[in-house]
Amino acid sequence: MDEPDAGSRLSSAADPHAAASVVVSAHAVERFRGGHPWIYRQDVVAVGDGAPGSIVRIRGPRGVALGTGLYSERSRIALRRWTVDGDPADTGDLWRARLARADDYRRALGFATVYRVVHGEADLLPSLVVDRYGDYLVIQTLSQATDRLQDQLVGALVERFRPAGVVARNDPRVRELEGLVRTVDVAYGDVPSAVPVEIDGVLQEVDLRHGQKTGLFLDQRENRSAAARYAHGRLLDAFSYDGGFTLRLARHCDSVVSLDSSEDAIARLRRNAALNGINVEARSVNVFDELRALDRRRERFDTIVLDPPAFAKTRSAVPRARAAYKEINLRALRLLAPGGVLVSCTCSSHVSEPDFLEIVRGAAADARVQVTLVEKRMQGRDHPVLLALPESYYLKCLVLRVLGSR
Ligand code: SAH
Repeated sequence: MDEPDAGSRLSSAADPHAAASVVVSAHAVERFRGGHPWIYRQDVVAVGDGAPGSIVRIRGPRGVALGTGLYSERSRIALRRWTVDGDPADTGDLWRARLARADDYRRALGFATVYRVVHGEADLLPSLVVDRYGDYLVIQTLSQATDRLQDQLVGALVERFRPAGVVARNDPRVRELEGLVRTVDVAYGDVPSAVPVEIDGVLQEVDLRHGQKTGLFLDQRENRSAAARYAHGRLLDAFSYDGGFTLRLARHCDSVVSLDSSEDAIARLRRNAALNGINVEARSVNVFDELRALDRRRERFDTIVLDPPAFAKTRSAVPRARAAYKEINLRALRLLAPGGVLVSCTCSSHVSEPDFLEIVRGAAADARVQVTLVEKRMQGRDHPVLLALPESYYLKCLVLRVLGSR
């Protein structure tokens, strides 16, 4: 590989003399000082000789030095905050130091061996994701800068974790916005097609190359454990994928029905259930149709999980998403017996927690049931929210209890 330039070498901090300068607008200066992690292209005034994917100095209109950022010549996000001038913590080998800090934090929380090690901006490691599945790691480099540094980053991970293998899951669509190709490669060692893991007493086989996200929905792990405290009787797991909630909740319930439109996911769910000695009725169906059919047949459940995909991927999709969330919550509330529990999730960053509560309140009103809210939850603590970036609070999870009809 080419010798990296001084601004991007893993072993260097932000060297004030090495890097090119990018000049940004007064508006961007204000946002940067307020802690926002990104500077958009329209706020870039002059680029100088900043190379794509390098670490550049960021200056305000009158030459005032702000700090450094990861530069992209393609994305709408032109700069990602890397260091702030005058921050005494920002010296030495920042990539390694921030990686170690991120991992130490998760270990202190007791996540054992399956967890998100690095959650991008929220770990001061912008556009980098690292997930750990026991002896294997999955890395995602989502900007020109982290893509350029991928070999060195993998090297640093291998040094710290001594993994058996590292997969580069670089297939997310956001890479296209950076002008980067979408690929999945083994970046180190060997990676079997099914990696066995144990999470909170559940055995699972994970496909790190093809599974959704990096293999599993790790962000719901703590919500599954929370849901297990309420789970009882007959369980319906809607949008089950390969069984995240099903497998964790089944041992607290008498019977389980799991629904997902993906036949592959249902096949894997069945294999995972067998691995754990769990009986599940798993069906590959459209949840919208199936909830209506169950209601028509007057079937009743004691515990229902709704964990749909993000219905609102953009702001303009919010009104339709709102209607879809309301529809499934209304149906689920009608299917619950008195004392029944609904675990209702949204992972749309465009639907805020107050919005979501209002949608579910409307669903309860239309379903003519009295409902109590017993817990408001969020994405797991290994996926922390960056306060300066409110939309990074993407996953909301409500635990609700049906009292009875009105
Ligand atoms: N609950 C899972 C994650 C669910 S992800 C866990 O804990 O791991 C959302 C799932 O919804 C995906 O598996 C997708 O296949 C499924 N899905 C999307 N639209 C659907 C629909 N209309 N009906 C049924 N399943 C759907």
